[in-house]
Amino acid sequence: MANDTADAANAGDETRQYDVIVVGGGPAGLSAAEAAAKAGARVVVLERQKEIGYPVHTSGGSWISDMRALGIPSDLYYPISSVTFLSPHNQARFDYTDPVCCVLDVRGVYQHLATRAVQAGVAIHPNSPVEGPIIEDGRVVGVIAKDHRNRPGPWRAKLVIDASGFSSTIVTRVGLRQGFHRYGYGAEFDLAAPNYDQQSLYLIMGSQVAPSGYAWAFPRGKGRVRLGVGVIRPDVDEDAREYLDTFAQRLPSLAPAFAGASPLEYHTGLFPSEGVVEKFVSDGLMATGDSAGHGSTLVGEGIRFAIYSGQMAGGVAGEAIRAGDTSAAYLQRYEKQWRARFGREMEISYIVNQRIAGWSDPQWDEGVEMLRRLTPTQAAELLRGDYSVGLFLGVLRRNPTLLRTGAKKFFDLALSRLGKPAPVTEAELAGG
Ligand SMILES: Cc1cc2nc3c(=O)[nH]c(=O)nc-3n(C[C@H](O)[C@H](O)[C@H](O)COP(=O)(O)OP(=O)(O)OC[C@H]3O[C@@H](n4cnc5c(N)ncnc54)[C@H](O)[C@@H]3O)c2cc1C
Repeated sequence: MANDTADAANAGDETRQYDVIVVGGGPAGLSAAEAAAKAGARVVVLERQKEIGYPVHTSGGSWISDMRALGIPSDLYYPISSVTFLSPHNQARFDYTDPVCCVLDVRGVYQHLATRAVQAGVAIHPNSPVEGPIIEDGRVVGVIAKDHRNRPGPWRAKLVIDASGFSSTIVTRVGLRQGFHRYGYGAEFDLAAPNYDQQSLYLIMGSQVAPSGYAWAFPRGKGRVRLGVGVIRPDVDEDAREYLDTFAQRLPSLAPAFAGASPLEYHTGLFPSEGVVEKFVSDGLMATGDSAGHGSTLVGEGIRFAIYSGQMAGGVAGEAIRAGDTSAAYLQRYEKQWRARFGREMEISYIVNQRIAGWSDPQWDEGVEMLRRLTPTQAAELLRGDYSVGLFLGVLRRNPTLLRTGAKKFFDLALSRLGKPAPVTEAELAGG
């Protein structure tokens, strides 16, 4: 063990002291810990599970450019060359000779992030659930947590980073915000599927397969594929598990791809779907990743955002420790950085998510028809949430009739958020 072998041995009868305590060893927490340690802070990660990256509660869909930018080794993600959107009576397929999206070896990526954190000097404590914050004079000064041998005790720090994901263990107890009321609820089998085409990823919409959400089939190499269903609560009451169990009957056209398949793993999980939270710092406390609602609500994608946000939080945490100032006023710079980089994209994604979550089957057929007219690059940019004036005008040029539907309001709003003040017109599209 790294820095605190002695601490672990003596746990339960003494207070441990750190610069930074990170609650949760998911992608956000591990990245925050690495960045803070690299900035010179003494950092510990407390993870309630016995293993980093287990149990899996995500499908691991992501993007190759981000994995490269984040230094994730290429053997930890599987490139996808064909993406198909399926609606009840339509489909749009995009082929990529140079793949852009990928499916992660989730456990492998998280363990890689953990190893990097340890190399930077972080101590990681698995099987160490945090029970709540220690608050003195209105500021967070540590946490109460059990250690790996189930011994509860105080762990003190100048700064606590809540990276506990959906459960938001510290921020909700401190009253920084309440729990999430709108969220995606997903159930997934990770199957050995000998007849599944390992190049083809599907996103499947419609009331038959996933009311107010979508189903997915994400191949991940070596004959494995993650087949899942997500629904949005409380928009609908339906149980994603029920829809997953009856998937083959609900979508007979894909049933042959799953002939002879059997699950090797079963995953469930929750994803915040409320848009960007109002505040993610207070005195002695930062929140990052899902616990701060940092994922994209567009299709419920949060892993790369958790890593970027964690790195940002950890960087500022390290600066705060060096400056000897962990007040909310100082930590505010993290919030500013995050909003400057991701705020607009997340806001537009949330507007889209709220619209499409209520779509009927005919609306999905029309939506997929709109997608059919896009280039593979445009489709990938939309799915990534890489919004720009050029992208939206390009989508409209290929679908000019959208300007005569209710969608015009959305495009005008999104374009104005991106800095195009005047409403878009058909003449303008024709001119471009
Ligand atoms: C069904 C489903 C499918 C998804 N699919 C995708 C996808 O394809 N692509 C994508 O990018 N994103 C996907 N997401 C979202 C993605 O999983 C999350 O955005 C991402 O995991 C957030 O990372 P995080 O580190 O913030 O939180 P988490 O990954 O949730 O990590 C939080 C960690 O904190 C630990 N923890 C919690 N409470 C405590 C405590 N009290 N004490 C100590 N430790 C604690 C947990 O055990 C966990 O290890 C999906 C989510 C769901 C639910």
